[in-house]
Amino acid sequence: MEDVFGYADEFGPAKIIHVHEPTLGLKAVLVVDNVSRGPSIGGLRMAPDVSTVECFRLARAMTLKNAAACLPHGGGKSVLYGDPRMPRERKESLVRAFAHALRNEQDYIFGPDMGTDETCMAWVRDELRHVGGRAVGLPRELGGIPLDQVGATGWGLAHAAEVAAKHAGIALAGARVVVQGYGAVGRHAARFLAGKGAVLVGAADTGGTLHDPAGIDLAALDRLKDSGRSVIDYPRGTKLEREAVVDLECEIWIPAARPDVIDEANVGRLRTRCVLQGANIPCTRGAEEAMQRAGILSVPDFIANAGGVICAAMEYHGASQSAAFATIAEKVTANTAEVLAAVAAKGMLPRDAALEMAVGRVKKAMATRRWGVF
Ligand code: NAD
Repeated sequence: MEDVFGYADEFGPAKIIHVHEPTLGLKAVLVVDNVSRGPSIGGLRMAPDVSTVECFRLARAMTLKNAAACLPHGGGKSVLYGDPRMPRERKESLVRAFAHALRNEQDYIFGPDMGTDETCMAWVRDELRHVGGRAVGLPRELGGIPLDQVGATGWGLAHAAEVAAKHAGIALAGARVVVQGYGAVGRHAARFLAGKGAVLVGAADTGGTLHDPAGIDLAALDRLKDSGRSVIDYPRGTKLEREAVVDLECEIWIPAARPDVIDEANVGRLRTRCVLQGANIPCTRGAEEAMQRAGILSVPDFIANAGGVICAAMEYHGASQSAAFATIAEKVTANTAEVLAAVAAKGMLPRDAALEMAVGRVKKAMATRRWGVF
């Protein structure tokens, strides 16, 4: 049994709920971290092997991301134990049962995450229809905004890039972009940056790395990916191993795949001016310190990739897609500017500046409550 209070601090977690229903083989956990800003929003992850501590760390990341974006929501996260590729009927019964078990849990709003999608969110909403239908990331037919399809996170990254480019002395027109992880986040970031004149010269997925200094045709690459193939099936350019994406020369390098892909061992290989963190925790602290010493400007994940959760929160409050996009642009631009101004003025690490800003916003909300955390 993990000591659930071992990692508690002044910000949370407010509560941890373990759910067990033996007739279904349902085992799941919900961590509600800090709801001083309002009910928590965070993804429902379906995976066989996420510990309660990891679920807590993901919930805390949502507390900070939602606070940084000044959303009226706290941070939470839930995990349903199981293989997400299980038969649909079984998955539906588990998702529905978990939602039912949390029917009175007003402090948590479900969102999609690894192993769950808009259909899962529709099941959750159906289970919770008489108690507020607390789910976001719903199908468009149910009033949702399909945030991965429309590229909400990539849209935010492109706005973070505009601010970062000014600080790094880069012109976006003609800037070379490399994306590690040409998926929902990476491909839309490339598309929106292309709209500002930047050129995608490198892209990687699990199959390997594509490099074409002449510029990659985004529509052709998207068609390849939509047909289930890899970036290395692109007809032109050089095909390299997966890790070679780190070495590609560019002005903007975007990690949009996995955590901890840039660490102390490979950070010296980066040949870029700016790292825009599309993935969550893609760089270790040591790597971020090394980047700063090397004059590479890095925009931290929970500032740069907040577009997805901003879109989800806007959906929850009934906004249209165009209103959600306007809000993402406004909030990500303002936050990136505030963080990078602090970096320029105080020589801080960008992550420390972002944390200071987010923690300040959590504390401000806590000070208005009878109890701080909930
Ligand atoms: P996705 O599954 O759509 O895309 C991920 C891509 O990364 C795929 O193309 C995959 O082939 C590639 N990939 C995986 N491992 C790789 C590796 N080792 N090297 C190179 N490529 C690799 O996922 P996504 O929704 O785009 O999310 C990507 C990251 O961004 C995740 O860390 C996620 O937590 C984070 N994120 C996503 C959102 C969102 O709105 N979807 C918002 C914030 C943060």
